[in-house]
Amino acid sequence: MSQNTAYVIVGASLAGAKAAEALRAAEFDGPVILIGNETERPYERPPLSKDYLLGTAERESIYVHSPEWYGDHEVDLRLGTTVTGIDPSAHEIVLADGSRVGYAKLLLTTGASPRRLQVPGADLAGVHYLRRVADTEQLKATFRAASRVAVIGAGWIGLETTAAARAADVEVTILEVADLPLLRVLGPEVAQVFADLHREHGVDSRYGVQVAEITASDGRASGVLLADGTHVGADAVIVGVGISPNAQLAEAAGLEVRNGIVVDSQLRSSNPDIFAAGDVANAFHPLLGTHIRVEHWANALNQPQTAARAMLGQDVAYDRVPYFYTDQYDLGMEYSGYVEPGGYDQVVFRGDAGQREFIAFWLRGGRVLAGMNVNVWDVNDAVQDLVRAGQPADVSRLADPQLPLEEVVKG
Ligand SMILES: Cc1cc2nc3c(=O)[nH]c(=O)nc-3n(C[C@H](O)[C@H](O)[C@H](O)COP(=O)(O)OP(=O)(O)OC[C@H]3O[C@@H](n4cnc5c(N)ncnc54)[C@H](O)[C@@H]3O)c2cc1C
Repeated sequence: MSQNTAYVIVGASLAGAKAAEALRAAEFDGPVILIGNETERPYERPPLSKDYLLGTAERESIYVHSPEWYGDHEVDLRLGTTVTGIDPSAHEIVLADGSRVGYAKLLLTTGASPRRLQVPGADLAGVHYLRRVADTEQLKATFRAASRVAVIGAGWIGLETTAAARAADVEVTILEVADLPLLRVLGPEVAQVFADLHREHGVDSRYGVQVAEITASDGRASGVLLADGTHVGADAVIVGVGISPNAQLAEAAGLEVRNGIVVDSQLRSSNPDIFAAGDVANAFHPLLGTHIRVEHWANALNQPQTAARAMLGQDVAYDRVPYFYTDQYDLGMEYSGYVEPGGYDQVVFRGDAGQREFIAFWLRGGRVLAGMNVNVWDVNDAVQDLVRAGQPADVSRLADPQLPLEEVVKG
């Protein structure tokens, strides 16, 4: 048994801050140490590509807690501090300055980092990635100064950033290797809605293209050269080609790592005193019967409650239906459920996809795997109930917008 009594959390962002909160809510009265390598206190990232980037939200609105909250709850928040190692046998973590911090239980909420583009010119000035609040400040300045930008990658970050650029009257060219935006996540039926949305907002979208190089002028990005020889001129280039889990610490400590830190439904890793939550965790999901790593806000918000209770020895499991949302121009949507790329055999629309006011359902063998409500609100609980039910659904009732969704849920 370890001599240490501290519960240590590495990664001071949404998941880390929520874990500290959950430990105190569960009346844990021992030391809680929350360590993060950013210099900002924990903040939420969704506004960084939406209202905060658009300039419609104040800086203060992004933070998880007030500065006083940490002291008031006796959470020892150590910012600007990088953890460089874990010594599981000593129950200690190692900091960049060589000092060590002992733990009774350790939670890793180290999140994820943007994948870097592997082409010449990827590190030029004027090439932007978006993960931290400082990145948003740079993009805001870019949108004020630039007249045209190129966005590489038509995923959520690329599309939301595009919408913000258009709102700032900046011309945008999207460069995407797949044949439609969000194709892997949504499939062609619904991806087309997002392709139309951006085209109607004056975006020059080029799908099925390969980026060969980021070109330079006077040491700054001047555009993107495509594999077919086309050159797309731009004052700045924004790259959104996915993220990789920050699982290096766990891997070096000998924990099981496969697409993130592998944890069970209690969020416990292959070491019984080390847990993981948020973007870095590849967790066994009892409802889905498989491990999934979810890169979304709701997961980072809710998983820490389960992790905190499991750390305290309670018998809990994380089985919430995966959920995420986006806002682009006047389109707001919520998505609940989980579909492997190509893992469905039918898409059912309820409402008018052309008017962008609808719910789409992805089905396999008649079962609803996921649903997405676009500009239709207060239906998310019913969508989640359908996903949870795991029963074949009546497709004609599902598609009938006159029939309340709750009635469809009842069957
Ligand atoms: C611009 C943007 C927009 C988004 N919009 C949406 C959205 O609309 N909807 C949605 O559902 N999700 C959205 N997300 C995703 C959501 O923000 C993430 O799922 C969430 O931030 C994950 O939280 P986390 O705490 O697990 O990890 P992170 O937020 O990645 O935080 C991990 C923290 O750990 C720190 N860290 C890592 N390694 C170490 C170390 N060795 N030592 C010390 N500290 C370390 C990192 O620096 C970071 O501060 C968005 C993300 C971004 C970037």
